[in-house]
Amino acid sequence: MSLLSVIVPCYNERENVSYFYEEFRKNDAFFEEKKLDIEILYIDDGSRDGTAGEVKKLREKDERIRLISFSRNFGKEAAMYAGLQKSKGDYVVIMDVDLQDPPALLPEMYSYMEEGYDSVATRRVSRKGEPPIRSLFARLFYRLMDKISQAEIMDGARDYRMMTRQMVDAILAMSEYNRFTKGIFGWVGFETKWIAYENIERVKGETKWSFWKLFKYSIEGITAFSTAPLTIASFIGVFFCIVAFLAIVFVVVRKLLFGDPVSGWASTVCIILMVSGVQLFCVGIVGQYLAKTYMEAKKRPIYLVKEEL
Ligand code: UDP
Ligand code: MG
Repeated sequence: MSLLSVIVPCYNERENVSYFYEEFRKNDAFFEEKKLDIEILYIDDGSRDGTAGEVKKLREKDERIRLISFSRNFGKEAAMYAGLQKSKGDYVVIMDVDLQDPPALLPEMYSYMEEGYDSVATRRVSRKGEPPIRSLFARLFYRLMDKISQAEIMDGARDYRMMTRQMVDAILAMSEYNRFTKGIFGWVGFETKWIAYENIERVKGETKWSFWKLFKYSIEGITAFSTAPLTIASFIGVFFCIVAFLAIVFVVVRKLLFGDPVSGWASTVCIILMVSGVQLFCVGIVGQYLAKTYMEAKKRPIYLVKEEL
């Protein structure tokens, strides 16, 4: 018998814990037929609404359920990492508890794994039910990432993904503190089958992602997988040096030919403002990378477990 580990990060999802379980169980017959043992790892990411208690209740009925509770909220990235570390399965799948990652896809995903793929990943082809402005920025982000990073990131890619133990071990070997799992999946490679599906809205509760959080997450993604902004900063520097050189030649020649009547206060102020703005922007970019390096250098644990069942 093979074992399939199901990793379910939960943050304040009391209402969804059992919904998810019920929906998941609809595949039981399939798993039985395929001789697949199951373990469901609910990762309670520091919830304060009694999510852990809800999981414990389920655990009394079903021993296949495991619970890992964090000491505080560490974020979904940390929850996924913990799940991968604690999972024992020959196959591992990561799923949201809000049923936006439909369990009904599992049989199809598993059948591709049987065909020999190392990983089966999912992407949303539509974003219905999402604010348009958010979809727009998401699209722009994926397009930008695709251009500037070495890791392949599919537009609309979700974290819903089934993997072999071999791939999980490769991901675990990337123990960086600033985790951008979507990039890590692409970076480690392996043969991946993509499945597309229409967006599904969450059953209960609200999304944990504000626009600001998503913005910060996208900066995380860019700095984690690309140094292109640093290169761009140096190019901007070179560009301004060339412009300055031409300006010097122009001013000197004009002085020699026409003398030097005092004028041009307005243009001088504009130039100073513009150039100092660009300088601050570039220092900011360098600062982003420095900050990430600083956090990596501390080697803090990615998560802390309070309780494990
Ligand atoms: N989640 C988590 N920790 C967090 C935020 C979210 O474990 O700090 C979990 C959440 O419970 C859910 C999944 O990550 O199972 C996706 O979160 P959400 O549905 O809020 O994001 P969205 O689907 O809107 O992108
Ligand atoms: Mg969701």
